[in-house]
Amino acid sequence: MSTAESAGFVVVGASLAGLRGAEALRRNGYAGRLTIVGDEPHRPYDRPPLSKHVLSGALTPDATALPELFALEADWRLGHGAVALERDAHRIRLADGAVLAYERLLVATGAQARPWPVPSGGGLAGIFTLRGRDDAARLRTALAEGPRRVLIVGAGLIGCEAASCCRDLGLPVTLVDPNPTPLARSLGTWVGGVIADCLRDAGVAFRPGAQVLRFEGDPAGRVVRAHLADRNVVEADLVIVALGATRATEWLSGAGLMADSRGVTCDGACRVLTTDGTPCPDIYAAGDVARWPNPLYGGRLMAVEHWGNAVAQSAHAARNMLAPAEDQKAYRHLPAFWSSQFGINIKAVGLTEGADSVAIVQGSRSSHRFLAVYGRAGRSIGAVSFDQARWLPAYAEAIEAGQAFPPIRDASDQGELLSRAPAFPPPRADSHPIEARHG
Ligand SMILES: Cc1cc2nc3c(=O)[nH]c(=O)nc-3n(C[C@H](O)[C@H](O)[C@H](O)COP(=O)(O)OP(=O)(O)OC[C@H]3O[C@@H](n4cnc5c(N)ncnc54)[C@H](O)[C@@H]3O)c2cc1C
Repeated sequence: MSTAESAGFVVVGASLAGLRGAEALRRNGYAGRLTIVGDEPHRPYDRPPLSKHVLSGALTPDATALPELFALEADWRLGHGAVALERDAHRIRLADGAVLAYERLLVATGAQARPWPVPSGGGLAGIFTLRGRDDAARLRTALAEGPRRVLIVGAGLIGCEAASCCRDLGLPVTLVDPNPTPLARSLGTWVGGVIADCLRDAGVAFRPGAQVLRFEGDPAGRVVRAHLADRNVVEADLVIVALGATRATEWLSGAGLMADSRGVTCDGACRVLTTDGTPCPDIYAAGDVARWPNPLYGGRLMAVEHWGNAVAQSAHAARNMLAPAEDQKAYRHLPAFWSSQFGINIKAVGLTEGADSVAIVQGSRSSHRFLAVYGRAGRSIGAVSFDQARWLPAYAEAIEAGQAFPPIRDASDQGELLSRAPAFPPPRADSHPIEARHG
């Protein structure tokens, strides 16, 4: 049996949550040995620009490196991920055979892009997913070669951002999604309809209510077309599969933890739960991989796949890792994300799922410049701004406070109030009841 090196506090996952969590450990006084394990060969980098500035060519992939905001003095173990957690022995095994003993562990392994199944053509050349820096570099190179037509499968945030970049590059684009509008799951069909207008104005062939069944390749194994469920065929020599992500938890299988493709379940203080529901005093999780009972939503379990949550939750978990059990605080978070596409800056706060009404409180839908608030059972639960973010923080406060729908009736530049059902598609069979995704 190999001997474990003592690695003090160990962070597994060298990306946004891992980096900001490690910094918070140092900032809060941890002076012992700190090891950061990452399966990618790169130091932490930022993912949001990958589907925006990197695809468009405005940024090179290496320009996405995240700055270190605090001196880490960490031992970086990059390029070989963790493959097993031996909880009783307090150690983890890495892919290169190394064994690290930990005193406390932060799980920050995030998520991975949902791939297209190989039996339905997923192994063909010319089919891409977009999660990491290397994916973005490969996709950018392929786009620069001038494909005849790009097909994007999935009109979520990443699919729409990629469609926007491809049109900026002058490439013909088809976008298919089973829902009636883009972003239907995160923003509902009423606001999603605005993005459908933008897609059409930009010249994207948007096919709502359409589903790809399989891809066909040429004799060289390169994708040439997609077959849809309605028997239509889309000719395309480059495909971007944007079907969301599954959480990176395989390495935890067999460790006796509540962990599966929906994430690692924690208690309110971000301590990972064992399969019998007991919090581990020395294992914490944060970022895309974590789901936890959010006090802001009555303690319901949720997973939030957005940048702001990775930053805030990892800092919170790190503080708890250094605190005595009785001082460890519950993590309370109002989900928020941004996106930029078709020249529009979109910002959203709260959770919109289950909304029964939406009101434009500033601007207008027709101008594509507005602030809309979502309501459920008379309460304000979410807000989204399209190029109109000035009042968003005030709405975030109102949502956090559970104010009546619609709140803040006296804003000076407020437009007419409208109420319409926002219509959300039913949740996917494989999704957790509450999820905020950036897929
Ligand atoms: C293309 C794209 C665009 C996005 N745009 C936006 C946006 O505009 N706005 C927004 O709010 N959010 C956006 N997001 C979401 C945001 O980037 C994520 O919420 C954030 O990256 C989560 O950080 P994380 O550290 O928890 O997980 P990740 O960033 O997924 O990092 C996890 C790291 O752990 C590594 N890892 C996995 N398994 C192992 C293992 N066994 N051992 C070691 N390492 C492992 C992974 O390779 C990865 O490097 C976007 C995401 C993507 C992919």
